[in-house]
Amino acid sequence: MISRSKKLPPGSVIGIIGGGQLGRMLSQAAKNLEYKTVILDPIPLCPAGQVSDHQIVANYNSISAAKSLSNMCDVVTYEFENVDLECLMKISEDIDVFPSPEILRISSNRILEKQKLRNIGAPTVEFLPINSIEDFNQAKRIIGFPMIIKTASSGYDGKGQKLLKSEHDIDDYLINSINTKKSFIAEDFSDFNCEISVICARNIEGDIITFFPSENIHENHILNISIVPPRVSNKVITSARNLAINVAEALDLVGLLAVEMFLTKNNELLINELAPRPHNSGHYTMNGCETSQFTQLIKILTKQPLGNTNLSCSSVMINLLGDLWINNSSKPDFDKLNKSKNIFVHLYGKDEPRIGRKMGHINITSENISDAFIKAMEIKSKLSN
Ligand code: AMP
Repeated sequence: MISRSKKLPPGSVIGIIGGGQLGRMLSQAAKNLEYKTVILDPIPLCPAGQVSDHQIVANYNSISAAKSLSNMCDVVTYEFENVDLECLMKISEDIDVFPSPEILRISSNRILEKQKLRNIGAPTVEFLPINSIEDFNQAKRIIGFPMIIKTASSGYDGKGQKLLKSEHDIDDYLINSINTKKSFIAEDFSDFNCEISVICARNIEGDIITFFPSENIHENHILNISIVPPRVSNKVITSARNLAINVAEALDLVGLLAVEMFLTKNNELLINELAPRPHNSGHYTMNGCETSQFTQLIKILTKQPLGNTNLSCSSVMINLLGDLWINNSSKPDFDKLNKSKNIFVHLYGKDEPRIGRKMGHINITSENISDAFIKAMEIKSKLSN
């Protein structure tokens, strides 16, 4: 019998569904470990397509493209949640897909995700599925205001959600959407102290490890800054890591799982969201850890022992959004920054900046977090002038 955990030899081919920046950085990590990558994405020369060995240009729901991908690859992963589940299951009949299609099925639907968390005893905000006006009326009684309404699927970076502070915020559009049988989740609004996330890595042998938690500051629902180590107690850091491990084990994860959490004013951790892939809040690992989140996933996909996730320094990550290109009179100049010690600019090869579009990120590292934070704020203010 072939061992399930036999290492894939260098030169083996990793398929990645989705060709954005996560697929790009994953491809680059694969190259560094001598593996090949094939990207499936409908846009020719997408960010990951530019740095991979081959791109299949096709829609995500094309069964024939899925078949081509499984024929060309030894293992397949995905870099976003709105992947076509049917295609993913077809691929998994032929070759390994990590994380499993079942994990994707759960994490791509906020109702299934929160129900799963509840079933395994992981803490979340109070929530109710909304599939009818009766459900919505019940949510108003049980959860009350303020309440957040989110579409059950297809939302990311805060898209597809609305904060209802009172009855006055309920508009016809929302009522019509509920009436037309769109599925929503109603959540208690958490007046949290801060947001943190933990990326957990688990291989096929069941070995499990977490990266250091990151404190995440969002602007307009999009991640703006990550701070590592986070400005919370050691007790919270340990609890957050343990919580992420419990969830990853309950899901029988093989791959990466980003677990986003709120730290409430009572020092309680509540899980907000799961992402079974590399995560924006883990970009600091590229310069702040011995093993980056991307290298770790390649090690898992190719059935190698997990890499060391210890912090080598403190890090602040700032996202570079298209706003910087659009709102400034001249293109941002990163050449000088790139030459500075402890400052690492990562650009994603996107030609067309748009408001809110992630174009790149900068990691700033230092011996201590306050120094890294001050430098990051200086860079941020210089770039936006
Ligand atoms: P999500 O799309 O669920 O990741 O939400 C995006 C952001 O909206 C989160 O990072 C939070 O800042 C905020 N948010 C989402 N759900 C809640 C909630 N139940 N209470 C308070 N803030 C929330």
